[in-house]
Order: sequence, then C-alpha cells, then structure tokens
Amino acid sequence: MAKVLCVLYPDPTSGFPPTYARDSVPVIENYPNGQLLPTPEGIDFVPGEMLGSVSGELGLRKFLEAAGHTLVVTSDKEGPDSVFERELPDADIVISQPFWPAYLTPDRLAKAEKLKLAITAGIGSDHVDLASAIDRGLTVAEVTYSNSIGVAEHTVMQVLALVRDYIPQYKIVVEGGWNIADAVKRSYDLEGMDVGVFAAGRIGRAVLERLAPFGVRLHYTDRYRLPAELEESLGLTFHEDIESLVKEIDVLTVHAPLTNETEGLLSDELLSTMRRGSYIVNPARGAIANRDAIVRTLESGRLAGYAGDVWFPQPAPADHPWRSMPNHGMTPHTSGTSLQSQARYAAGTREILESWFAGRDIRPEYLIVEGGGYAGTGAHSYETR
Ligand code: NDP
Repeated sequence: MAKVLCVLYPDPTSGFPPTYARDSVPVIENYPNGQLLPTPEGIDFVPGEMLGSVSGELGLRKFLEAAGHTLVVTSDKEGPDSVFERELPDADIVISQPFWPAYLTPDRLAKAEKLKLAITAGIGSDHVDLASAIDRGLTVAEVTYSNSIGVAEHTVMQVLALVRDYIPQYKIVVEGGWNIADAVKRSYDLEGMDVGVFAAGRIGRAVLERLAPFGVRLHYTDRYRLPAELEESLGLTFHEDIESLVKEIDVLTVHAPLTNETEGLLSDELLSTMRRGSYIVNPARGAIANRDAIVRTLESGRLAGYAGDVWFPQPAPADHPWRSMPNHGMTPHTSGTSLQSQARYAAGTREILESWFAGRDIRPEYLIVEGGGYAGTGAHSYETR
C-alpha cells in the first residue's frame, strides 16, 4: 500500500468556506484543442468547492483510504523540521502544486528513498528537479490544460488593469475620494497598441485569441510558428526571437515554461530595448524575470507597469521588492487555481493515481518525466534544444 504525501496551500484565514458565492460552476465539455477533460472513474467532491487548500485534500482521502493507502496532507513545507521533510523519507508518491510548491530539490530527492511518482496538481513541474528525477527513474506527471484558460483570462485582466490603471482608481473609491485627474493621469486605452506574446502554447495562444477583439496589433514569438490560417485570422506578426519582439510592442505577456533557456530572460539588457512606457504581464514563472531588473526598470519609467502572479520563491517573503515596487499589479499565485480549475486538477490528479495504482499508462499529455527521460508533454515543453 502506498503512502501519499500531499502539499497544499493553507485554508482561508477566515476558516474553510461554509458557503460559496455561486451555487454551481459552468460545465465545459472539452479543452479548446479537443483534449479530453480529466476522466477519473469517480470523484468524491462537488465541483466548485475549495479543493486546493489543506482541508479540501483535492477530494482524495476517501478514494485513497478505501483502497488501503495512507494520505498525509500538509501546508508545512519549508525547512528540515517541516511536516513535508519529516514525512518525505517513506513517501511513495508526492503531490504538490505550483501555487504552494514543495520544492523537490536534489537534496530532498536523495532523502525520498521510496519516492516513485511526483504529481503536479496543476501545470508546471519546475519545482521538481527534473534532472534528478530522470536520474532516479521517477515518474513526474501534471494535469495539462487543467487551468490554462483561467491563466489566459487572468492575463487579459492584468493587461487591462495595467494599461487602464485600474488599481489606483479602485483605491480612490475605497478611500472616499473622487479626484478624476488623479485617477486618469496614467490611464490609457489598450485599443491600437502593439501586444506581444512570448511563447504561444496553450496559454499564449488563448491570450492571443482573447485579445484579438480589442483592436490591438498582435505579435508573438515561439520555437514553432502557429498554423498559417490562425496567424492570418488573428492578424499575427511572427518574430524570430524575444529580442526582436520586445522592440516592436507596448505590452508583453509571458507564457513559456521555466527552463535553462528562459530563466532570467527578462534582464536589464532586454528590458532596456523595450519602448518607454511598456507593460509586462508574466503569469508563467517568476524566475523568468530578473527580480531586481524589473524593479529598476519600473523605477526608471521605461516600464509603465508589471503584473503577473508568479514569484520566486513562493510564498514570496513579506519584504519581496515586487510587493512595493511602483506601478505593479501583482497577485499571489492565483490565476490557475480558480474554483473550476481546482475541480479539474483534482479530477486529473485522481485520474493519474487511478492509472498508477492499476498499472495502466498515464496519458502522454500528463507525462513530464518517465523511465529515465522526458516523456509526453515533458519531451515537448521541458527538453531544451
Ligand atoms: P505549453 O507547453 O502549451 O506552452 C509553452 C510554450 O512555450 C510552447 O509553445 C513552447 O514551444 C514555448 N517555449 C518553450 N520554451 C521556449 C523558448 N525558449 N522560447 C520560445 N518559446 C518557448 O504550456 P502552457 O501554455 O500550458 O503553460 C505555459 C507555462 O505557464 C507553464 O510551463 C507554467 O510555467 C505556466 N503556468 C502558470 C500557471 C499559473 O497559475 N500562473 C498555470 C499554468 C501554467 P514549443 O512549441 O517548442 O513547445
């Protein structure tokens, strides 16, 4: 029987929700590319309930315990005395989330002698040292597409919030004020701007499709071009690399995985080539941006705004400079964990566990690492070339 160690973010400070804002969540049939939604044999939760925090347990306890497995759920993940490190040595399976990542570093993996499977309840397995996972012959899987559209929506929201300067206007209202000149002195229309997407995968493509009706000129770069018909219908301009992209745009959105190639890519050097008054929204990974370069470039005014929901490390310390830098619209890592996304990645996690316990293949689109190498989605997204 397996011991499953699951790290989730803490419950709401006001207690686990007794009621929800809405009575139900919309049902979707398929992902936009036709990929099937998660197909577990059953679920023990109501979609729309909080599943991603500790008490929600991703809805897994009944299923696991009925089959004789042990489930340990904790949010305590930092340092050698944390519940996570204490429980890790005899865990067979670790489940973690990018929002509250239990970093599986080479040191931790060395201590996790029984570990065979690491599941990301969400998308993005860079919190697992994938090279060590490959050496150890572990399986790493994630719930591809579970929250991609939510992240695309969050991106569009933050682009509009930055360009229209929504956050200071909201604060003026809450604080009882009405000075319209204060409220609009940094407020612009998005219409007519050049918007560029770095990496047009599932999320980046959904951002392009959602921004097209705003009357902007759309640009992108990726390792592979999108289909010609899509480029034509959205009026996309393709750029060979990010260096040529950023010179031609007013707004950059970032949707690449964190790899050796993308870490630190948003550097002083690159940012200095952007138009003065540009905006960046990065919901991909915090470490794709050089932390201090972002602060410096906002302070100098070359960047007019920066937003996103990803930081390094997570949770961000109270004194992280992105909390206090000027003209930012940061959120904690929330874009991929709406109540609907939670239902999908909880169901996908259960599907992966069902396959694992039954000795069936895990869907290739969920696989990142398997059998000593990158596999499935991982072979496409993480293998750098
Ligand atoms: P996809 O794999 O569908 O898309 C990633 C895209 O990035 C692919 O098109 C890939 O190109 C491209 N790419 C990779 N490396 C480079 C590079 N060096 N230069 C240019 N393009 C590159 O992933 P998703 O769209 O689903 O997710 C993207 C990232 O977003 C995830 O890796 C994760 O880090 C983050 N994410 C954040 C969430 C949040 O809650 N904030 C939730 C979900 C994801 P290629 O065509 O070669 O594959």
